[in-house]
Amino acid sequence: MCNCDECEQWMQPYMDRVLTDAERAEAETHLNECTYCRKRYRFEEHLRQFVHQAVIEPMPVELKQKLADLRTPLM
Ligand SMILES: [Zn+2]
Repeated sequence: MCNCDECEQWMQPYMDRVLTDAERAEAETHLNECTYCRKRYRFEEHLRQFVHQAVIEPMPVELKQKLADLRTPLM
């Protein structure tokens, strides 16, 4: 039921928030159903927070995403 080899492929783009809405919905569904991937996702997320602490970002990714969403009213 769970093909976690595929998770490897969307895990990074999911965290980068570069997936389409449909892909992201699929990823979130899988994260809700798959304990292994949920643990893995949390681990990767924490790992990224450590990395991000050392990097000064001009704009938070969430804010960029919100601005991008506002620019696409046709969706
Ligand atoms: Zn999985």
